[in-house]
Amino acid sequence: MAYDLIVIGSGPGGYVCAIRAAQLGLKTAVVEKWPTFGGTCLNIGCIPSKAMLNATELYEEAAEKFAEMGIKVGGPSVDLAAMLKYKDKGVDGNVKGVEYLFKKNKIDTSRGVARITAPGSVEVISDDGKTQTLQAKAIVIATGSDVARLPGIAIDEKRIVSSTGALSLSKVPQKLLIVGAGIIGLELGSVWRRLGAAVTIVEFLDHILPGIDGEVARQAQRLLQKQGLTFKLSSKVGAIDASGKSLKVKVEPAGGAAETLEADVVLVAIGRVPYTEGLGLDALGVKTDERGRVVVDPHYRSSLAGIYAIGDVIAGPMLAHKAEEEGVAVAEILAGQAGHVNYAVIPNVVYTYPEIASVGKTEEELRQAGAAYRVGKFPFTANPRARVNLTTEGFVKILADAKTDRVLGVHILGSDAGNMIAEAAIAMEFGASAEDIARTCHAHPTLPEAVKEAALDVAKRAINF
Ligand SMILES: Cc1cc2nc3c(=O)[nH]c(=O)nc-3n(C[C@H](O)[C@H](O)[C@H](O)COP(=O)(O)OP(=O)(O)OC[C@H]3O[C@@H](n4cnc5c(N)ncnc54)[C@H](O)[C@@H]3O)c2cc1C
Repeated sequence: MAYDLIVIGSGPGGYVCAIRAAQLGLKTAVVEKWPTFGGTCLNIGCIPSKAMLNATELYEEAAEKFAEMGIKVGGPSVDLAAMLKYKDKGVDGNVKGVEYLFKKNKIDTSRGVARITAPGSVEVISDDGKTQTLQAKAIVIATGSDVARLPGIAIDEKRIVSSTGALSLSKVPQKLLIVGAGIIGLELGSVWRRLGAAVTIVEFLDHILPGIDGEVARQAQRLLQKQGLTFKLSSKVGAIDASGKSLKVKVEPAGGAAETLEADVVLVAIGRVPYTEGLGLDALGVKTDERGRVVVDPHYRSSLAGIYAIGDVIAGPMLAHKAEEEGVAVAEILAGQAGHVNYAVIPNVVYTYPEIASVGKTEEELRQAGAAYRVGKFPFTANPRARVNLTTEGFVKILADAKTDRVLGVHILGSDAGNMIAEAAIAMEFGASAEDIARTCHAHPTLPEAVKEAALDVAKRAINF
């Protein structure tokens, strides 16, 4: 049967693209090589990591804050096997949800590794070696990304792990060394620290969280250090000796003497790389860039007619919601509509405690561009709800155009920042000024009142600080 569209990969980019295409009347098929749908995000990424973050945050809250609120539960303890089961149950429910949505939208699915043999033609090789050929007017590559590896360091997912192994350790390591102080390193470092591991994070750069507003990243580092994470910045992991009972990790600080740190487990969290293995792109002549990403034009067209690409496999932030927006946009373009993604308003959230959420420009970016801007800030210590919730860490920072007052960036370090950033994203999508946010009535007592106060502070008229 010939399809209008074949989507390769069922991650947030691929499955959302397929559903939107089906809604628009395109006869659609999805090819997935894994046994379950949902890609990195649902199986080994966003969802399992957030399950572990949620469980361990509540565990720490019970241990450290309940008594102050007059709740007596005794010292809470952890049943790691049960916690991992809770995580797996969450994953299972979500991946089955995607399967249900495919059926509901009458999307055909095919299990196996897809290879594009020619524009319009996809060969699917299933686990048992059987081959099937599918035809379609258009093909969308949504094959996502894979773990970036360190040269000379083999990941065995037991002692030297990627995020995938770090989400399923059957024992809490005494010493966990993490390579990379990006989002995944900080989130999984927080999980295992809360469960009792001594966590050291080695970072090549002189700061954590590259790409995040500097003031926010510095404050976040202070808070995470206070919680017990140890950072070794401007340092490089050279080699790991795995011959003994514990791992011996050579850490080389810039300009200093190398030291050897011992660890039970090393997590390599230096980022992710686009995944195109087995797709046959070279043979077809589909262009990729120097980092292996499929090159696309603003309409997600690759260098070969009829072949499109979205999500982690193309340029841009490797985020599930970015992939989803691109999935919708390309489906709409294929159906003759004007699909479009506003890359200026893609929120970014780090689910540590406190959370770190941002949208739009950082102060560094504005300074570098020579933009004239004003800053409004409001600390959660001055927010009544944060005070009674015992969550006063952090602040809201709003950057607005000095002349027009248009909001250029919003950065939140605080409990529930990930939920609060949605308000900022909507405001920016509608081209709001700081005064628009400041004049919008916010319910009391809520944490988002801090967003309103930061917006008021852009004009130096915050009420509660
Ligand atoms: C630990 C971790 C935590 C994360 N947390 C977050 C978070 O909180 N928020 C967030 O926004 N992002 C998060 N991410 C990133 C997010 O998971 C990715 O940005 C997102 O999954 C990308 O979606 P995608 O559809 O492009 O690709 P993927 O989700 O990677 O899906 C690609 C799919 O394609 C399939 N595939 C590949 N090649 C073939 C082939 N030849 N034939 C058939 N099928 C194929 C794969 O099996 C896979 O299912 C996290 C990632 C990790 C690793």
